[in-house]
Amino acid sequence: MKILFVASEVTPFAKTGGLADVASALPKTLRTLGHDVRIMMPFYSVVERGGMAVRKGRKSASVMVDGVEKKGFLRQAALGEIPVYLIENKEYFSRDELYGTPGGDYPDNAQRFSFFCRCVLELLKKMDFRPDIIHCHDWQTALIPHYLKHERKNDPFFARTGIIFTIHNLAYQGLFPREELSTMGLSKECFTIDWLEFYGKINLLKAGILAADIVTTVSENYCREICTPEMGCGLHGVLQTRKDDLVGILNGLDYEEWNPAMDKEIMKNYSHASLSGKMVDKIGLQRLMGLASAPETPVFGMVSRMVAQKGFDLIAELLPEIAKAPMQFVMLGSGEERYVKAFTDIKAAGARNVAFAAGFDHSLAPKIYAGSDMFLMPSFFEPCGLGQLIAMRYGTVPVVRRTGGLADSVFDPRDNDKTPNGFVFEEYGAEALWEAMNRAITAYQDKAFWKKLMRRGMSSDYSWQNSVHKYLDLYRKALLRKGGEA
Ligand code: ADP
Repeated sequence: MKILFVASEVTPFAKTGGLADVASALPKTLRTLGHDVRIMMPFYSVVERGGMAVRKGRKSASVMVDGVEKKGFLRQAALGEIPVYLIENKEYFSRDELYGTPGGDYPDNAQRFSFFCRCVLELLKKMDFRPDIIHCHDWQTALIPHYLKHERKNDPFFARTGIIFTIHNLAYQGLFPREELSTMGLSKECFTIDWLEFYGKINLLKAGILAADIVTTVSENYCREICTPEMGCGLHGVLQTRKDDLVGILNGLDYEEWNPAMDKEIMKNYSHASLSGKMVDKIGLQRLMGLASAPETPVFGMVSRMVAQKGFDLIAELLPEIAKAPMQFVMLGSGEERYVKAFTDIKAAGARNVAFAAGFDHSLAPKIYAGSDMFLMPSFFEPCGLGQLIAMRYGTVPVVRRTGGLADSVFDPRDNDKTPNGFVFEEYGAEALWEAMNRAITAYQDKAFWKKLMRRGMSSDYSWQNSVHKYLDLYRKALLRKGGEA
C-alpha cells in the first residue's frame, strides 16, 4: 500500500511529545512490512539546527492566504528507507518553537497549519504521488480530511484515497475565532454545528473527526473514556456520531530506539538476561543529578511535560512528604511556571533527595529511564502514555493512575485477573498516589519480587508488532470503501 503520514512532529526531526515517537515508529514498522510509506511535516528551525541531512527540492506549492500568495518549498530527508518531505516557509516555520512559547500559542497557528495542510495536498499532486491512505494526526493536520470532504470533494486525484485521523490528545482541539475562516481557505457553509463550528469558534479537531473515513485514538480505554461527558472535552457527542468508525489502538514503542542493551546515552548497557548494569546507571544518575550515592535507596524518576494533565498538582502537594521520605526523586521536564516553582521551592527549602532538571533533554531522558527504580505517571488523564512503556522496557517499575492507556498497560499486584508489572492507584488525589508510592517502596525491599516485576516489564512486548496490524486492517477497510483494492 502507498501510505502517507502527515504529522506536525516526527522523531528525530522535531519532538515535543509522544506524537513524534508514534509518527516515526509506526511508519518504520509499516516499511519493514513492505509498504511504500512516506512522511510529510513542516520544516522548522529545530530541524535545521538538528544537523540532519535535508536536501533542497525543486518543487513548491503556492497557497493564497487572505489574497496574498505564500509559497511552501519542498525539502527532502530520510528516516531509514522512508522519504520525509519537509515543507519550508520561513515566515511560518523558522521559529524557536513548534507551537508557541511558554507565554502562549503563536497567534497565527491557524494560518501556519492550514497553510501546511494545503501545501501537502498541492505537493502530492505536483509529485504525482497518489496515496492509497493519508494518515493524519491531531488538530494540526485535521484540515486535510476536511478539505478533501468539502472544498476539494470533486478532486479526482484523491477520489480513491482513504483518510485515517488519529487523536493523540482530545484536550488539544485547535480552536480559532470564526474570522479565521477565510485565512484557512474554508467556506462559510462549513461553519455549522454539523461541521466545524463549536460554541461560536472553529474547532479543527472536530472537523477532522467528522470528515475522516476512520478515526482512531491511542488506547482502547481512552477510546471508551472520550465518549463520556466527563472525559469527552465537549466532543463526546461528536465522537458518538462516529462510533462505528472510531477505534482505540494502543501505541507501541520503537524497540530499536528504546533499548537498554544498545542505548548509547546511558552509562552502562544491560538487558533482561543481565540486569547488573542497571545499578551502574542508577549510581551514575545519582551522581549526575547531585544526589547521594545510595544503591539501596529507591529512586523515583519522572520525564514529562509539566502540565495539569500529568498529575503535577498531586506531585506539588506531595513534595514536602517526598523530601522527608527514604527515597530519591529525579524530575526532568518543562512546562507551567507554578509546577517548576514547586520544585525550585523545595530545593530552596533544603531538600537533598529531590533533583530537578528543567527543559527538554534527549540525552538525560534515557538516563532517567535507565537509572530509576520506579517511574511516576500520576496523570489526571492519559490517552496512551509512552513513559510507562519506555520505563518497563528499561526495567523501571511504573507507578501510575488507572486512566486511559495507563490502565491498558500497567497492572497492580491487587488486580486479581492480571499479572502485575507495576503499581496503580484509582482516585485522583495526593493520598492515593502517596499510598501507591509507599507500596512500591515496601515491595522494593523484597528483592526477588522486585526482580520479577522488572523482568516482567522488560519481557513484555510493547513494540509496534501487534498494533501495526490493527492499523493495516483499518487502512484496508478505508480503501475498500473508496473502491480501491486493499
Ligand atoms: P505526551 O505526548 O502527552 O507528552 P507521552 O508519554 O505519550 O506524553 O510521550 C512523552 C514523550 O516525550 C516520551 O518519549 C518522553 O520520554 C518524552 N519527553 C517528555 N518530556 C521530556 C523532556 N523534558 N525531555 C526529554 N523527553 C521528554
